[in-house]
Amino acid sequence: MYPRILIDITKLRDNIKTLAKIIKNDGKCSLMIVTKGMCADPEMVKMLVESPEVDFVADSRIKNIASYSKTVRDAGKKTVLIRIPMLSEADEIVKHVDLCFNSEMETVRAINQAAQKVGKVQDVLLMVDLGDLREGIFFKNEDEILKAADEIKDMKNVNLYGIGVNLTCYGAIIPKNDNLSQLVEIGRKIEEHTGKKLEMISGGNSSSIYLIESEIMPRIGRMPKDEKMPEGINNLRLGEAFLLGNDTAYETEIPETHHDAIKLQAEIIELKEKPSLPIGEVGVDAFGEKPYYEDKGIMKRAIIAVGKQDTDLGSMTPVDDRIEIMGGSSDHIILDLTACGDEYKVGDIVEFTVGYGGMLKLATSPYVDREYVK
Ligand SMILES: *Cc1c(COP(=O)(O)O)cnc(C)c1O
Repeated sequence: MYPRILIDITKLRDNIKTLAKIIKNDGKCSLMIVTKGMCADPEMVKMLVESPEVDFVADSRIKNIASYSKTVRDAGKKTVLIRIPMLSEADEIVKHVDLCFNSEMETVRAINQAAQKVGKVQDVLLMVDLGDLREGIFFKNEDEILKAADEIKDMKNVNLYGIGVNLTCYGAIIPKNDNLSQLVEIGRKIEEHTGKKLEMISGGNSSSIYLIESEIMPRIGRMPKDEKMPEGINNLRLGEAFLLGNDTAYETEIPETHHDAIKLQAEIIELKEKPSLPIGEVGVDAFGEKPYYEDKGIMKRAIIAVGKQDTDLGSMTPVDDRIEIMGGSSDHIILDLTACGDEYKVGDIVEFTVGYGGMLKLATSPYVDREYVK
């Protein structure tokens, strides 16, 4: 059934192999793969579980983690909750999560109690905010960080497994040797203060990959040539690099990865020659916006059965580069097929590669089916 997402498991597996070479061989970091971009798709998770290179399987939502915690653990890997948990989720965390990212001590205390009830020691990682201004204890409040580490040290059922940072998500701050060194330094101070070694210093997401010196990943375009991953960072968490092969710091494509492992396929439901200019007084469209049209004369216009409810129009690219996306509404996308001659007909399938935003919406829409290539 259409529309559907075509998920190429073999290509995703290839991406893991390439990323493992960069992250593990060259970067000496453990590999955490983030599943939220495809809503923890079960076939994708199965591949991750069977991939020896993957150390941790992570998601932002406990529902997704609950769907795979058993298979991940059975394979000897760990589940990770990377969004700061809700206070109300403590019992669920203890049940499904091996490593939980935190920034609020009130929540860590609740996790300690929940872990005590079931006789477990819960690993937690303290998030430090280095200036991106999303989650984490602000790096300048060192007292707060050390106090939190102290309090966790005294908890019977919570273990401070490490610290981490997230960048390039809200504030779009790029990881550099400078800011990540501050994280390593904070880690060193925590170790000194508590007398306990931290197992993980997690240096970010797909935007941190470029810092690793690797033959696979040459410095190109705007990338600074002499930036280096500081010594001490020993983990990265990758979502977009795995799913779409993107370096998200300088918006380059990571060599030797596939960028079309995830595709959208949609069916043409109408194909007609019509003018390029709407006729009549122009008001606002279905989303309250005033549209702008260019007069290109009579065009071959196709409607495909997928819309803004399922995807993000700005985050999809036709595989056939003669096709242009003209616009759309909730359930329709209109394509310009003028340059394609008579090649397409009603019932034909049009393919698109997707960006992160489009992929996320497609994976979340109950109207979009899935098909796998293995
Ligand atoms: C989403 C997320 C990631 C993965 O980010 P990508 O840019 O997709 O690699 C890593 N860490 C945290 C905390 C996240 O929320």
